[in-house]
Amino acid sequence: MSDCIFCKIIAGQIPCKKVYEDDDIFAFHDINPAAPVHFMVVPKQHIASLYEADQSHQAVLGKILAKAGELARAQGATDGFRTIINTGRVGGQEVYHLHVHIIGGPDRLGPMI
Ligand code: 5GP
Ligand code: ZN
Repeated sequence: MSDCIFCKIIAGQIPCKKVYEDDDIFAFHDINPAAPVHFMVVPKQHIASLYEADQSHQAVLGKILAKAGELARAQGATDGFRTIINTGRVGGQEVYHLHVHIIGGPDRLGPMI
């Protein structure tokens, strides 16, 4: 998707603080962190949101969650973290490239809902 900001970050056209990359997924720090540890893990393939996800995306979506704990721990979230996927207008989604927020830090996070 040529006009997608996260596709541009994945392609290296927009700078980011990269956390992790493999053939299928990419992780980078949120530009406006909500906590001391705040990064996002995304599929390299453009999927706009969970509304567009289907069975063909099972493997990559599973890979993101299967990697989340390792990456969170490596970033310093060693005592827990929150995992958030915002979907659509009501879900507060701002960037329409599916992303999983990983949010943690030394202190207990306040309630989100
Ligand atoms: P959403 O509300 O869509 O779940 O969250 C999008 C997130 O992307 C926001 O937390 C926002 O701070 C982050 N973000 C938006 N633009 C950029 C950018 O250009 N670079 C980075 N690293 N994060 C961004
Ligand atoms: Zn994209």
